[in-house]
Amino acid sequence: MKVEAIKRVRQVAVGGLAAIAIFCALSAFRTTRPILSVVFLDVGQGKCAVVIAPNGNTLMVDAGTQTYGREGVGERLATQRILPALARLGIRRLHVMVVTHPDKDHCNAVPIVARELRPVLFLSPAGNSSEPEWLSVKAAFQGSAVTTVIAQRGQRLWLDPRNGIVAEVLGPPSGAVARVSEWTPNEASTVLKLRWQEFSVLFTGDLGETGQRWLLQSGTDLRATVLDVPHHGSKHNTATFLRMVRPKIAVISAGRQNPFGHPAPETVKVLQQMGATIWLTGEQGSLLVRTDGRQWTLTGLTH
Ligand SMILES: [Zn+2]
Repeated sequence: MKVEAIKRVRQVAVGGLAAIAIFCALSAFRTTRPILSVVFLDVGQGKCAVVIAPNGNTLMVDAGTQTYGREGVGERLATQRILPALARLGIRRLHVMVVTHPDKDHCNAVPIVARELRPVLFLSPAGNSSEPEWLSVKAAFQGSAVTTVIAQRGQRLWLDPRNGIVAEVLGPPSGAVARVSEWTPNEASTVLKLRWQEFSVLFTGDLGETGQRWLLQSGTDLRATVLDVPHHGSKHNTATFLRMVRPKIAVISAGRQNPFGHPAPETVKVLQQMGATIWLTGEQGSLLVRTDGRQWTLTGLTH
């Protein structure tokens, strides 16, 4: 696997990666065709998704939990829900850890996950924060053997080169970070598009109106089969952006008892009008999407 940038080729050595044998114990789903799995975990009011390529390489996008009411606290959920779920999926090693932005509901479980699953590469967000949860993430990787790369538009992560499975960084655009303050890291969220043949997933962190406008202006192809709906489906989604992505499946990661009113009815309405299948993690639990690059299946996972 390699990371490359379109303009400035930047290869990151992930030594020994090819030699790392990953036993994907997805026995229930065993098939002769190569299958890509994408799992959106129910982590309460946070985000955590993991991609398992046919060659066994794994990529996680965010690992943050925030819970309210009787669901317990974030750290407990990380050990009670994220790690057991990864174990059930047969994931014993993480190859790429992506944090879209430094908010705790996207990164507070990263140190625990990194300690247990020893990622090879950490794709760090362009934004920064002085919040303790983000400082813990930085401390977890500093001085470690993990290669850290700051996300830049144009980078490509070749998750499964033989099958042509790639994740490309679409945003934030260069210069965007200089225009947002530390207090609005949402807009500088790393936007990642995973592609395989006719199937794609757009990961968006907590991108708001400004970040969505930047992406639209960049002229990037935003169409995606699956949309990780920005910012937990909040009202900060623009109809223009959602229509440009035009997802078949819209995953909204929001806690059942979240006090923010996520998802916003107007955002859900736009997605419904497009005919998207909406999956709300807080209500329906974790979602497994499996694809052969053309067709896909959706399966709810219990935890
Ligand atoms: Zn968030």
